[in-house]
Amino acid sequence: MSVWAILVAAGRGERLGLDRPKAFAKLGDEPLLAEPLRRLEGCRWVDDIVLVAPPGWEEPAILLAEEEGCGKVRACVTGGETRSDSVRAGLMEVPADAIVVLVHDAARPLVSDEVVERVLAPLAEGWDGVVPGLPVGDTLKRVGPDGGVQETVARDGLWAVQTPQAFAADVLRRAQANGGDATDCAGLVEAAGGRIKVVDGDPRLLKVTSEADLLTVGEWL
Ligand code: C5P
Repeated sequence: MSVWAILVAAGRGERLGLDRPKAFAKLGDEPLLAEPLRRLEGCRWVDDIVLVAPPGWEEPAILLAEEEGCGKVRACVTGGETRSDSVRAGLMEVPADAIVVLVHDAARPLVSDEVVERVLAPLAEGWDGVVPGLPVGDTLKRVGPDGGVQETVARDGLWAVQTPQAFAADVLRRAQANGGDATDCAGLVEAAGGRIKVVDGDPRLLKVTSEADLLTVGEWL
């Protein structure tokens, strides 16, 4: 089974307020992107990698992959306006005979072999896609623009979903071809009628969105 990983790193990361995209924010002594790249390169379940870089940052991304000795990186493409556009650009580089595509956010640097194995396994049972998630522990409220609570949302059965997300390659291709936008790939597959399974995620797959997240993930390295 050939597993292609698409590492999406093309977000602007405006909330970090830096002069560079989030993928090149400093995590420890290195650009954030180095960590997930090295981890996917070293992952025994991943055969090939497509790197999706921020516009104008393709060369630094390729250089970084070379410096890290990432021999599995087959292509580095320019990301799009939205995450879905970036995944679509990455998918164009995945060959037609690929069986499984794993999509991962570079903004979640601490991807592990264990979680990759957990999302790949159920594909053999016929699921179209598998995503890692954590059951929601906090009470959820819908809040209006004035800060007023509109409703308390029942949290039974609610999970916060992470990446890496694994898909049968043909299913993801068809879902992406339909166009549309979603905050994760599974959303597109669901909209196309696909069956998605949730498996246990990992709190360490925290998505870096703020300076505090960078510090937290830095401490977990
Ligand atoms: O924006 P958000 O934090 O949801 O991004 C999740 C992941 O998707 C990040 O790794 C980011 O680099 C990537 N992304 C992308 N292209 C975009 C927007 C986000 O590759 N246009």
